[in-house]
Amino acid sequence: MAKGMKMGSCRKLNCGNEIFTLKQLSKEDNDKLICRFCSARVMYVSSYQKQSSKKKVSAYLRLWSNEEHHENCKNTLKNAVNHLVAQSQAVENTQPILKKQQDNTTIFRLNLLQEAQISLKTSSKLVHNQKNTENVSARNKYVKTDKVLSSYFYSAVGIAKIRGLIEQDRDDIRKLENTVKIQYKDKLIPWNDFYYDDERYHVLYKRLEKSKVEHPVALKVTVKKQPDYKNASTYPWSIQCFSEQYEKEAKKTIIIPRIKTDILEISQAFAIQQTYILVGEIWLNKVKDKNNIFRNINIVIQGKAQFTIYVG
Ligand SMILES: [Zn+2]
Repeated sequence: MAKGMKMGSCRKLNCGNEIFTLKQLSKEDNDKLICRFCSARVMYVSSYQKQSSKKKVSAYLRLWSNEEHHENCKNTLKNAVNHLVAQSQAVENTQPILKKQQDNTTIFRLNLLQEAQISLKTSSKLVHNQKNTENVSARNKYVKTDKVLSSYFYSAVGIAKIRGLIEQDRDDIRKLENTVKIQYKDKLIPWNDFYYDDERYHVLYKRLEKSKVEHPVALKVTVKKQPDYKNASTYPWSIQCFSEQYEKEAKKTIIIPRIKTDILEISQAFAIQQTYILVGEIWLNKVKDKNNIFRNINIVIQGKAQFTIYVG
């Protein structure tokens, strides 16, 4: 049976509409917790540490087994997707990145995100190259593209977060795959090519080793260290996240995701031990020493719309 999405807040029986967040709750509350939108019974799952990586898995809320959300509840997968679809129409005169089809499936147009990124880079160059001459039209175009890109990232992160919140439940994953199709250029790409959690970094690494991954991807990461500053021309800040240890044919590889940015404010926006869903462009460092077991996967984060806190 499908488990539904993890939740970060709920209500309590006999407490009216007061909303309780994870920090205010504990296992002792378990007999009186209900969904904040529909009153389905939910339970508190305590935080724990993964033995293998020492990574902390934060507390979260989930449905009791045999419980279901009401069909109109915002915590159902269908309604969470519908909510994002409605919001993705927010910027005027642009194509929405999430588009509902007649058969009720939603198309997530990943190519629009990529096109907007390229367009922003182009107009950014144009604005910067015209130092003293005021070019209002180039500047306006830049501002508009930046706004559209943020809106696209917001939707992309939202949809990736829904994937993260259903974790490994096969029924739920299939339901999401049937509800949201990811389009890239002229074809549909599998969800597995877009979303990677800490048990599948090695899959992404292998893909990147073979060739460049053209489209932005979603990564679930937990921040391990404070940002590192290097005097580099691109992305001087680097934030190390918890790794995946991968073993095949007695050969061990440790794959470390790193958040890269050149914006001070973004480098300070991540908290240690907190888990995030990120969407961005990725690349690998050149391997200088083949015997070194550590490998980095870099993801570029340049705006707040590119990440969100993950529950659990
Ligand atoms: Zn509910």
